[in-house]
Amino acid sequence: MKLVEYDISNPYTATVVKSERITPPDTDEVRHIVIGVPDATFSPIEGQSIGVLVPGPHEFGNEHHMRLYSIASSRSGENKNLAEVSLCVRRCFYIDEVSGEKYPGVASNFLCDRKPGDTITITGPYGRQFLPPRDNTCNLLMIGIGTGIAPFRAFMKHIYEERGEWKGKVRLFYGARTGMDLLYHNDLNNDLGLYYDQETFKAFEALSPRPHFDEPAQIGDQLQANAEEVWELIQDPKTHIYVSGLSSLEQTLDEILASLAGSEHAWRDMKQDLVAHHRWSTLFYD
Ligand SMILES: Cc1cc2nc3c(=O)[nH]c(=O)nc-3n(C[C@H](O)[C@H](O)[C@H](O)COP(=O)(O)OP(=O)(O)OC[C@H]3O[C@@H](n4cnc5c(N)ncnc54)[C@H](O)[C@@H]3O)c2cc1C
Repeated sequence: MKLVEYDISNPYTATVVKSERITPPDTDEVRHIVIGVPDATFSPIEGQSIGVLVPGPHEFGNEHHMRLYSIASSRSGENKNLAEVSLCVRRCFYIDEVSGEKYPGVASNFLCDRKPGDTITITGPYGRQFLPPRDNTCNLLMIGIGTGIAPFRAFMKHIYEERGEWKGKVRLFYGARTGMDLLYHNDLNNDLGLYYDQETFKAFEALSPRPHFDEPAQIGDQLQANAEEVWELIQDPKTHIYVSGLSSLEQTLDEILASLAGSEHAWRDMKQDLVAHHRWSTLFYD
């Protein structure tokens, strides 16, 4: 990641208010972390991310290790407290190709290890291209895997709690490895369950039998199984499409949508058109 792309000249000191694990112990650790930022100039909206600056020393003499995290709360703050925002963080590890050793990801482990009362340095908020539509008759088609659910939690809070009376269709296609990995919709945390009764909302959950967390293959099956509705929605000029999570999802999605469009070429043209009309927004990371 090129840090020069992000302005880090105006950092904020945030205090961890709460950190709770929202996946069971025998699976990947994902935490819902609430931080307090008591500064009125920090006012993020749905779909934005913050930068977390991990104090050094770091490898290669780097002054900062900065990583981005999507904000999981809406513009009125976590639990309507403007001074608090929430994040959904997966504790990452990677295997060194040469030594075969397992190393912890720096920022995600730093964040997941922080306890209530600890302070962290954050920057941002960043990004204004992944925003819910203003018109409440618009449809939302949200497709995500793993922690890619974070901005969608923010969207749902905004459209159903802050806006109210959402008239357009809201569809969530969400992939996870097991039922307990369905973030914000499992026994440990059921924040999204609040919206399942909304008349306009429908969720399609895809569980993967494969061992890798965030495996996108099954979400493809769910999209295929609901191809008619998905395709109808995509063609409707009132539909805004949002895709969030691991970048491997992009290829899966392109393949499915190309088959629905009739050819790769047809889908490429259509996607270009959707982007041009601000109806196709993505938030990908590795
Ligand atoms: C816009 C945006 C939003 C994001 N939102 C979220 C979010 O809501 N939740 C979330 O959990 N994450 C999110 N991420 C991802 C997050 O920014 C970090 O990339 C992630 O947490 C890993 O960072 P880290 O510092 O823990 O790991 P790092 O220490 O940076 O390592 C990250 C990865 O780099 C690779 N790597 C690094 N060093 C080596 C090495 N020596 N050998 C082999 N591989 C190596 C590995 O694949 C490893 O997993 C988002 C990213 C973006 C761009």
